[in-house]
Amino acid sequence: MKYLTSLLIAVAFVSCKTTVPKEETKEEIQQNEFAIVIHGGAGTILKKNMTPELEKAYQEKLEEAVRKGYDILKNGGSSTKAVEASIHVMENSPLFNAGKGAVFTNAETNEMDASIMEGATLNAGAVAGVKTVKNPISAAIEVMNNSNHVLLSGAGADQFSKEKGLEIMDPSYFYTDRRFKSLQRIKDKEKTELDHDEKTAFYDSDIKNSKFGTVGCVALDKNGNITAGTSTGGMTNKRWNRIGDSPIIGAGTYANNNTCGVSSTGWGEYFIRGVVAHDIAAQMEYKNVTLKEATHDVIQNKLTKLGGTGGIIALDKNGNISFEFNTAGMYRASMNDKGELIVKIYKE
Ligand code: ASP
Repeated sequence: MKYLTSLLIAVAFVSCKTTVPKEETKEEIQQNEFAIVIHGGAGTILKKNMTPELEKAYQEKLEEAVRKGYDILKNGGSSTKAVEASIHVMENSPLFNAGKGAVFTNAETNEMDASIMEGATLNAGAVAGVKTVKNPISAAIEVMNNSNHVLLSGAGADQFSKEKGLEIMDPSYFYTDRRFKSLQRIKDKEKTELDHDEKTAFYDSDIKNSKFGTVGCVALDKNGNITAGTSTGGMTNKRWNRIGDSPIIGAGTYANNNTCGVSSTGWGEYFIRGVVAHDIAAQMEYKNVTLKEATHDVIQNKLTKLGGTGGIIALDKNGNISFEFNTAGMYRASMNDKGELIVKIYKE
């Protein structure tokens, strides 16, 4: 009888142990020595509004950007170097709302924000409202590595970048016809007589319909270090030195080697209020859920309930990748250690 009881307990134990955890039935868990994921912004990106030429241009730039970081990781380079190199490709392209393609403020200037965080040390750096730095992500890296600060803003951040020897441009470098015209369209609409409710509705639909276009990258290197970075021109027609989530550690960018790295894009005010990037890492740490479960809950449940639109890219310590957005599309790409490439724009 005693023998039978032990046998029953053992059988129950084994069958319990071999039950597949809930999350593993839903998603494929990967093990990658290194991996990289990027985004070029989320928003109302619909195939019907896209010409084949523009679609191809985005796909090619996304592929170029992700391959740049991938090559660094493959050759044993650090995740921070990979993030910087991938983001440079997008910052130097007029296609994205960062660096060269930054959107215009109400005052017809370009004011850029960027941030970076390293998951090994929780070290971080950021700049907000810079007007002359060609590659704001490099300014954020300088703040992280060569200052006692985390976030520098305005003229001081431009001055710091110059002193550190970063490439400085005349503000006219950031002019693009496409972005200037979209500011004028918004300003023209603003001139129309609208009552308060109509105005609120207009601002809402205008923001929701715009393509945000911020860029971001998260990478895991062969040493197990995760870095996340984000760079943006902010939102068209912003005023009063408005700063969004992109340079805010925990909202636009977060990385922790024990959990994951995240870069956000979307309506920044909601990402700040939801502390979106950190919330994803915190859910993994405190609730022991997978990356997919954490990103889905934060974007599809919590952010959506708040009224926020946008998305994130994220990558965990095993190189699992997540793209999550509640908009029609998000420019995005990834590569894993097998060299498998994903480049996507629309919801699928
Ligand atoms: N999140 C950015 C901001 O609010 C905009 C974007 O992602 O496109 O400044």
